[in-house]
Amino acid sequence: MHVLLTEDNTLIASGIAAGLEAQGFSVAHAATAAQANSLLRTARFDLMILDLGLPDEDGLRFLHRLRQRGLKLPVLILTARDAVAERVSGLQAGADDYLVKPFDLRELAARLHALLRRAAGRTTHVIEHGPLTYDPAARAACMAGEPIDLSRREQALLQALLQNPSRVLSAEQLKDAVYGLSDDVESNALNVHIHHLRRKLGNGIVGTVRGLGYRLGPAGHASGPTRDDDS
Ligand code: CA
Repeated sequence: MHVLLTEDNTLIASGIAAGLEAQGFSVAHAATAAQANSLLRTARFDLMILDLGLPDEDGLRFLHRLRQRGLKLPVLILTARDAVAERVSGLQAGADDYLVKPFDLRELAARLHALLRRAAGRTTHVIEHGPLTYDPAARAACMAGEPIDLSRREQALLQALLQNPSRVLSAEQLKDAVYGLSDDVESNALNVHIHHLRRKLGNGIVGTVRGLGYRLGPAGHASGPTRDDDS
């Protein structure tokens, strides 16, 4: 899950980024509204954390502008003051949730997961795909009720596929989902993770669409570990 963190305080920003990355999020940091704006135009995010006190533009005005432009991204605002008026105007400006500083990183992560679930229109944590279930909050996969041990990269890959069940995802989109924006990725690394995921969940879990990319295999084909096969 890609989070755009817009926060001008470097210390707070690096603390949040480290905390969220440890929980499996990938975090891009913007220190100003202008930086956030240009990142929003060039990369895809699942949600944004927005500090209201930014150096170049008031966070609420920035958010209002983004919503007017049609930005649908779930936004959680960070406010320094526990003022009812500020929270209300935040929600009116188009925020989906807010946290008052200082806050616990675990609470932030839990709120972000809740926002993602709401954005995806799901009422439960768990994504089902035939006999396969995946819980994004716990990052736990089960096949026919049996837990399947997945690495962090494999979890991210599986989640990207499950959250886009009818789309063909390019290798670039999958790399982006698995590694985030900042990591340097060897060209073969994605293939290695796809290979492992197929070995653990069955060859059918990741379908190859020649020349275009990959897509989630049909639910019936995710039938559990199979022989080692690259097809
Ligand atoms: Ca600030």
